[in-house]
Amino acid sequence: MTLWPEPPPPASHATDWNAFKAEIAPVETIDEPALVRQKSRDFYWYSPILKRQLGKHFGDLIAIPKDEAEVIKVAAACARRRIPLTVRGAGTGNYGQAMPLAGGVILDMTAMDKIVSLDEGALRVQPGIKLIDLEAQTVPQGWELRFHPSTRRTATIGGFIAGGSSGIGSINFGVLRDRGTVRALRVVTVEETPRIVVLEGDDVQKVVHAYGTNGIVTELDIALARTWPWAECIASFKDFMGAVRFAQALCEADAIVKKEVAPIDWGAAKHFKPLVGHLREGEAIVILTLAEPSLEPFKDLLAEHGGTCVFERPMGDGAGDIPPLYEFTWNHTTLQILKTDKTITYLQTLFPPPDHVKLVEKMWKHFGDEVVMHLEFVRLQGKVGCFGLQVVRYTTPERLKEIIDFHNANGCPIFDPHTFLLEDGGMRVVDEAQYEFKRAADPHGLLNPFKMRAWAERTPTEGKWAEVKL
Ligand SMILES: Cc1cc2nc3c(=O)[nH]c(=O)nc-3n(C[C@H](O)[C@H](O)[C@H](O)COP(=O)(O)OP(=O)(O)OC[C@H]3O[C@@H](n4cnc5c(N)ncnc54)[C@H](O)[C@@H]3O)c2cc1C
Repeated sequence: MTLWPEPPPPASHATDWNAFKAEIAPVETIDEPALVRQKSRDFYWYSPILKRQLGKHFGDLIAIPKDEAEVIKVAAACARRRIPLTVRGAGTGNYGQAMPLAGGVILDMTAMDKIVSLDEGALRVQPGIKLIDLEAQTVPQGWELRFHPSTRRTATIGGFIAGGSSGIGSINFGVLRDRGTVRALRVVTVEETPRIVVLEGDDVQKVVHAYGTNGIVTELDIALARTWPWAECIASFKDFMGAVRFAQALCEADAIVKKEVAPIDWGAAKHFKPLVGHLREGEAIVILTLAEPSLEPFKDLLAEHGGTCVFERPMGDGAGDIPPLYEFTWNHTTLQILKTDKTITYLQTLFPPPDHVKLVEKMWKHFGDEVVMHLEFVRLQGKVGCFGLQVVRYTTPERLKEIIDFHNANGCPIFDPHTFLLEDGGMRVVDEAQYEFKRAADPHGLLNPFKMRAWAERTPTEGKWAEVKL
């Protein structure tokens, strides 16, 4: 059985850091070791495989540019001195995406946090703004993100576009890779004389979800959605497949406006400490975000399916002891459970339409308590389907691999969350356009080293790639 590739051993990058700092002045830098270590982390530790592999990899210096001119200064200095450069938003990514595997500079983008313009739902924005702060400015004007990760309160827009995929709202607008949401990106290259490349139309996909391996995004142009007054609800069902069939019917009910539909089995929901007092012992739930005018027809549909609404409130940023319900969905489900049970990990699975409900039932019956179901309903190329972010009772790497292989062999592709390699995770294949863009934009292979498999296999940089055991 082939397990996961191993990263290179942890190493600092040897250079004269004082000379480097002088060269990039006046860019703010931090070299205090505790802070550098802290900003070298993301949520890689969700995976027991990555936790073992990446726990000792750190950068050497943090640089915090306040505008594009400062980004260019850092990029040029790194290219001249061949220093690895890892871009970072808020560090909420998984898979070690934002973790430097060859030391070097961590480029913290959070000081570039301005909205440039908002024109009829087309937003131009700097990458380092937090999603919650972005919406605080757009919602009063009637516009919101088409979809956002469950890390809305912490993540940046640049990190979401470079590292994320989908989220709350994907039941209406699909995933980041679908044409139309990301309209244009402004990207700085890492060369001795960096260039600014503007990617528009389908070309944006060269950099979307590329883990910052092939360019530094300095401005984004994204399409927003009209706002609704939203409410959040929890529907309860005696059995999990009843919850799934209701979710499917709700997603097909086009006149009921919704933004989030997440069936979660009791084996996971019972760990939601702040919520459990509202839940019925042993029952599966569906976490929902619905437009307020759709609450009544939703309840009629729910009654038809034998479900009960056990929790309802207007959407806010979390009142009292209960955080926003989206912080129990997507990858937050796993986080909520990890708070009480450190023995679990997770999967990311596609249950492709039109057979997704049957496939879910097959896997649910096959694995029982070992793989507890958590689904996220999404619109995929116009059809309703679902992703699984199932909660796995972890025993050994070999068993985890068997579980993944069984899903892949049964028509449920896994986007492996236990690898630091871009193509082995979300993308599953080499994206030739992303690779070609890296050759042009990062000819020395300095951006987020060791993450792009195609680079490792085809463009060995000074023999270093041999250190990754593919
Ligand atoms: C609890 C939890 C829940 C999550 N829920 C979701 C979810 O619902 N949907 C989802 O898609 N993801 C989810 N994620 C993953 C992650 O939160 C999102 O992808 C998030 O948007 C990342 O933003 P960030 O600012 O933290 O990026 P970071 O983690 O800092 O960076 C992510 C990647 O983007 C690159 N990057 C960052 N900024 C730039 C830039 N300006 N230019 C080029 N590259 C850049 C980094 O190098 C890194 O590879 C979740 C993660 C956690 C821990």
